[in-house]
Amino acid sequence: MQKNFFHFNIESFRHFLINDLSVDEKQASMRSKQIWDFVYKKGYSKIADLTTLPIELRNKIISSISFDVPKIISTQVSTDGTIKWLIRLLDNNEVECVFIPEKTRATLCISSQVGCTLNCRFCHTGTQRLVKNLHFSEIVNQVMIAKEQLNDWDEQKKISNIVLMGMGEPFYNYENVKFAVEILKDKLGLSYGLKKITVSTAGIANKIPDAAREIGTYLALSLHAPNDEIRELIMPINKKFKIKELVQQCKYYSSIVKEKITLEYVMLRGINDSLECAKQLVKLMAQFPCKVNLIEFNRWPGVQYLPTERQDMEKFAKIIENAGYIATIRRSRGQDIFGACGQLRTESQKKK
Ligand code: SAH
Repeated sequence: MQKNFFHFNIESFRHFLINDLSVDEKQASMRSKQIWDFVYKKGYSKIADLTTLPIELRNKIISSISFDVPKIISTQVSTDGTIKWLIRLLDNNEVECVFIPEKTRATLCISSQVGCTLNCRFCHTGTQRLVKNLHFSEIVNQVMIAKEQLNDWDEQKKISNIVLMGMGEPFYNYENVKFAVEILKDKLGLSYGLKKITVSTAGIANKIPDAAREIGTYLALSLHAPNDEIRELIMPINKKFKIKELVQQCKYYSSIVKEKITLEYVMLRGINDSLECAKQLVKLMAQFPCKVNLIEFNRWPGVQYLPTERQDMEKFAKIIENAGYIATIRRSRGQDIFGACGQLRTESQKKK
């Protein structure tokens, strides 16, 4: 059976060259780096153009390794330029990924799971049961596919930032997310700096310290409420990990990674948007280096919540700013194509 290139890390690829393709041990390190860098910088469809590789080795590689990637089965373009791709994985499950261009940067939002176990009440993905954890190759391939679509190869970097904020909970697929970040940040190849990648978690507190030491990207915490009572109503995961514990682990994370944590706060009318909530949030923000991103609530069919009015969002933000902290209001992008935060969902179901 052919091996798939994207299942290797650089070390296992080197071993493969030695053991399966009889590349001389002395040469293997150089060759593996050369091929790795080429595929991740120039794309997976051009391997035949790697003419600096001896023809014999090139032919061996082409016949023994598959460069197959998942396929895009639908593309939707929003009036604001956001693009949502529905991707069919090689095992036929489906996952979504979203490209969000802005004036000075462009972000790719990728998924870590098909479906989700968390059931946050305001999130559409939460209505889809967990189908599976994505393999690290399936996480990285979302980036590769998007780059191919946008012809984003070489140094131009149309996709400047990557956020793990699509479908799923990254820290419930910790190992694959860790390996994927290793490949995304590798100077050979994709070369995204750790400060260009954000992992967003609903607050799996016991994984935060490991992530600080082993992953080290920016961290976003989906807080969405300043106290356990409200948080528990909208995020069942809060029964397991309380805000006090999250604060403690975030303190640790920022002490190791030396960056502010981004608190995400989706504004739900009449639920978590009172001025009292803002004051409580200020007290929470005093406990570790952080800023807050106030998110417009994106509706989806059947959801019970309404978005907070714009002027009320601004009042809420003012209280936080007046206390000396950063509060930004995240404009919703790609709403018309259901590509905005919390709107992703596919038809994939768990097989019995
Ligand atoms: N499980 C991770 C990452 C996926 S969700 C996490 O919870 O962080 C990405 C972000 O979108 C989270 O902050 C999530 O709370 C937010 N979100 C979910 N549903 C939303 C909605 N309907 N409108 C706006 N943001 C939403």
